[in-house]
Amino acid sequence: MSNLIVGLTGGIGSGKSAAMAAFQALGIEAIDADQAAREVVEPGTPALTAIADHFGSQILLADGRLNRAQLREIIFNNPAEKAWLEALLHPLIREHIVSFLQKAVSPYALLVSPLLVESGQVNMVERVIVVDVPESTQVARTMARDQNDEALVKSIMASQTKRETRLQAADFVINNSGSLQELQQQVNQIHTELLAQTRDTNTNREPK
Ligand code: ADP
Repeated sequence: MSNLIVGLTGGIGSGKSAAMAAFQALGIEAIDADQAAREVVEPGTPALTAIADHFGSQILLADGRLNRAQLREIIFNNPAEKAWLEALLHPLIREHIVSFLQKAVSPYALLVSPLLVESGQVNMVERVIVVDVPESTQVARTMARDQNDEALVKSIMASQTKRETRLQAADFVINNSGSLQELQQQVNQIHTELLAQTRDTNTNREPK
């Protein structure tokens, strides 16, 4: 198990995946909460069986995978169904993340999550890194990445934590307005600082 669990968050298009790759390039193990949420409902999982039993098999695509778009539509205007789904999935996602973090052997390990602060996942981490860009950059980069229109990107941003709230939770802020090279430089600096902090933790853990 790593000595320190570090959360990495930011709004859509802020550069979480790019920052995660920069830490991984330094040998740091990282898990993406969105990816974990997809893995717990892969075909053959008990969660997918429970979802198909609850909503009917029309919630599955022809190849047996979950029809996420349809599920999103069902729960969008139905708080009771949303609550049912969250009660099923949240503990499973949490277990999946914990098991990854427990197996990680890098000096510290990263939990990457867009909803770190509002989902309560922040309680699973000991430090928080926020990737920050102006909202106009978030919109431009997400539109370029996903070929989404501006209105859709802005509605997703409106459903996420406010920039100020996220920044208040930060121990480290990465300003990702510049180039990818500047992002890597900031990651290198935070990495050095975190390595120093894990060494301090080790020292403190030694018997007196
Ligand atoms: P997130 O994971 O937070 O949604 P991404 O890491 O996918 O964001 O970044 C959004 C888009 O912007 C991606 O296409 C990514 O390649 C690009 N990107 C991220 N950081 C930079 C940067 N510093 N300069 C240019 N493009 C960037």
